[in-house]
Amino acid sequence: MEHPRRLIDLHTHSTASDGTVSPSDLIDLADRRKLAAVAITDHDTTTGLPAAVARAERYPQLHLIPGIEISAMFSENPGGIMHILGLGVDPDSPSLKKLCRHLRQQREQRNPRIIAKLQSLGIDIEMDDVLQQVPGSQNPDERIVGRVHMAKVLVNKGFAKSTQEAFDRYLGGDAPAFVDKERLTPREAITGIVDSGGAAVIAHPAQLRCCNSAQLRRLLKELIAVGLTGLECYHSQHTPEQTRLYLDFARELNLLVTGGSDYHGLGKPDTPLGVPRVPLSVIRDDWAQKWFGDRA
Ligand code: AMP
Ligand code: ZN
Ligand code: FE
Ligand code: FE
Repeated sequence: MEHPRRLIDLHTHSTASDGTVSPSDLIDLADRRKLAAVAITDHDTTTGLPAAVARAERYPQLHLIPGIEISAMFSENPGGIMHILGLGVDPDSPSLKKLCRHLRQQREQRNPRIIAKLQSLGIDIEMDDVLQQVPGSQNPDERIVGRVHMAKVLVNKGFAKSTQEAFDRYLGGDAPAFVDKERLTPREAITGIVDSGGAAVIAHPAQLRCCNSAQLRRLLKELIAVGLTGLECYHSQHTPEQTRLYLDFARELNLLVTGGSDYHGLGKPDTPLGVPRVPLSVIRDDWAQKWFGDRA
């Protein structure tokens, strides 16, 4: 049967990480936007998924693809970052649970170090202030606490006018309270995702900051050798030229094409859900069958 809806958004963040919209509200919104499919891909966690799954039962025309976004170790290019999306993961799989537990522990060690640096800069800030900025669950095992929440405290206390200024002055990579995250290797992230049944997809490849096509091709081939499934060709921050380039690479290397907005709610007010418009038809048949069955 033809799917009556045509557009998908396979990259979104909820309050389970640093988005401002709850998982269930995000599902409501995806249905209002008439999307055929939405993936919730919170940073380092799948804890938003059960609420989203429950809400998605109301909307037979909307497919929820359970996902995650993991930051991997990458130091080849100045300013370059590597984020890996897991799409269609099983949140109950032991490999993914283990990986998420590890990532949470790393954050629990890092957050007090950032707070201590902020305090040493004369800022009156405690971990409790930060936790108050984390909506959703009060259960420490079900929340991801990070720099975006700290930025909100800095804004509320008058140390910065905006989240962006809080990053520029205090929390960003070149700022005095920066503490880097311990990251998984790309192989570890990809293996964890693939072992949990998901497609491992390089998110927003533009952010790798590859200096030329040859470097990107080599990098993708290395990642394919450790199990990479796909490439996020469509993303709200890609130019049309970049999108075309990534589509060419995906075709050449037989990578699954995906796309999404990287929606964060009010956290990124200029990035609405469902933009760019990504047709359901870009999803390769094997994965379309897996995710959408005969509705694709
Ligand atoms: P964390 O995972 O705690 O390191 O926080 C990462 C998040 O902080 C990213 O997903 C962005 O939303 C945000 N972020 C990182 N760097 C910046 C920056 N320079 N300016 C604004 N937001 C940033
Ligand atoms: Zn984010
Ligand atoms: Fe990302
Ligand atoms: Fe993202």
